[in-house]
Amino acid sequence: MDKVKVLEKYLPPEAAPLIGRWIDYFKCEFKISRNRGSKFGDYRAPHQGKGHRISVNFDLNPYAFLVTTVHEFAHLHTWNEHKHKAKPHGTEWKNNFKKMMQPFFEKDVFPPDVKHAIVSYLNNPAASSCSDLTLYRSLRKYDAPKEDIHTVEKLPINAVFKLKDGRVFRKEEKLRKRYKCTELKTKRVYLFSPVAEVELVEG
Ligand SMILES: [Zn+2]
Repeated sequence: MDKVKVLEKYLPPEAAPLIGRWIDYFKCEFKISRNRGSKFGDYRAPHQGKGHRISVNFDLNPYAFLVTTVHEFAHLHTWNEHKHKAKPHGTEWKNNFKKMMQPFFEKDVFPPDVKHAIVSYLNNPAASSCSDLTLYRSLRKYDAPKEDIHTVEKLPINAVFKLKDGRVFRKEEKLRKRYKCTELKTKRVYLFSPVAEVELVEG
């Protein structure tokens, strides 16, 4: 199937032709991959005869998919320009990320709140990866609603919730940026990111 047609299923459709051109121009192997939980996307620099490789999780909403794709292409471009001399999320990467987001702003691909979150993310020198919470939350609003799936921060204290692997926890107080949660079976304490997705068992 035509590459752009495939990309249109994952990206805001008006963004697909340009991403298609980047794939060709940068000679990048672009893969839409299963959800890896810990990350949205991945860039691998040329290594042992293999060229540039980018993969992005299939289950991101179109805006999150686009932001992640541009994030990874900014790594590729930075690699081409500086190789190992630039830090993964350093100034060079950040400038490329900014530059490469521009055409999508010009095409008005993003809803105003997402655009606002991306712009403030781009202007925040401390922000580096997609783990930026404000950006992530505003992107998340556009996910298709899932039943009984909540983020830890939205649950009341003492709520009991379940992970995909079946383990059951009780939410406790917030410690700095994360929530203390006790696994009911083992009584062991774990720290959860406020935006971790869990299934509510009882509120
Ligand atoms: Zn990165």
